[in-house]
Amino acid sequence: MDVRLGNGIHLPGCDLRLDPRRKVPLAVVSHAHSDHAGWHTVTIASFATIDLMKARKPVPSGCTLIELDYGETYCTDRARITLLPAGHILGSAQVLVETEEGRLLYTGDFKRRESLTCEEAASAKAGTLVMECTFGHLRYAFPPVERVREEILNFCRQSLSEGVTPILLAYSLGKSQELLAILAGSAMEVAVHRSVGVMSAVYGKHGVDLGKYTLWDGKNHTGKVLIIPPNTRLSGQKVEKSRSAVISGWAMDSSAIYRNRCDAAFPLSDHADHGELIEHVEETGAKKVFTVHGFTEEFAGDLRALGIDALALGGGNQLELFR
Ligand SMILES: [Zn+2]
Repeated sequence: MDVRLGNGIHLPGCDLRLDPRRKVPLAVVSHAHSDHAGWHTVTIASFATIDLMKARKPVPSGCTLIELDYGETYCTDRARITLLPAGHILGSAQVLVETEEGRLLYTGDFKRRESLTCEEAASAKAGTLVMECTFGHLRYAFPPVERVREEILNFCRQSLSEGVTPILLAYSLGKSQELLAILAGSAMEVAVHRSVGVMSAVYGKHGVDLGKYTLWDGKNHTGKVLIIPPNTRLSGQKVEKSRSAVISGWAMDSSAIYRNRCDAAFPLSDHADHGELIEHVEETGAKKVFTVHGFTEEFAGDLRALGIDALALGGGNQLELFR
C-alpha cells in the first residue's frame, strides 16, 4: 500500500490522512495528545478522544465528527476504517484501513503493557504496519510495571513521612490519570494541577475510577501528593519543602534526573518499549513495516536484521554497513 509522510501519514490511494497537524478534508485522529489531535472537515476518532479534544478546544463550526467505538467500522468510498484499542491513553486507537490495495494497521502511540486507565492494546493481521517507535532502541526495556508503581508509592510515602511534599511531574493527559489510579488504592491524599483536573473529569465521565483528588490552588498541598505537568514547574511555581520525581519512559536514561532538575525518575511509560514493538510486529504478521516517531532508523534496521522489510518513513535509512 502506498504510504507517505507529510502532514501526518498520508494514504494517497484512499486520500486519507492519519493524525495530520494541519486541517484536511478527511482524517482519523488516533488519540487526544496535542501532537496528534486536530479538528478536520471530517474527523474520525473514538468517543473518548473526541471528548478529551472538546475539553481542550471547542469543535469549530463546519466540522463533522464521526465517533466510533473500538471494533466499529466506518466506510468511505475507497476504504473501510476500524479503530482498535492502542493501550496508550483513554480513547487511544490503532487504525485499521482496508482498501483494494490491502490491509494497513497504524498503531498511533501505543503500548502493550497493562494500564489501570485504558483498554489493553489489541492487534490485527495486516500486510502493512505503520508504527511509532518512540522507544525503539534496545536500551529501552522497561522494568515490570508493578515494581515501578510500588517504587512511586514508596517515594510518596517516604517523602510525606518526612514532612516533605512529593511532587510527581507527569503530562496532564494520560500519565497523570495513571498516577491517580495508582494512588487511589493508597491512603495518601492527592492534589492535582488544574490542567490535570480538566482531563481527569473526562476519564470520570467515561467510567474510569481515579479515586479522590483536590485541585491544587498553589498552597493546599501540605500532607498531600502533588501531581503537576513538568512545564508548570518551569513556569516558576515553587513549592517549599518538596521533593520531585519525573514519571516518564525517558527515566531509563541516566541523565533523566539531571535534565529534569528533579530528585528521582521513574520509568512508567505509555509507550511500547523495544521488546513490545518487536512483539507487535510479529503479531500483525506484517510484510512491510514503516516506522515513525523516535528511533525510526534504528528500529527499522533491527527489523531488517530479523528479515522483515522495514523502512523509516521519511528517514534516511542508512545501510546496515554504515550503522
Ligand atoms: Zn500520545
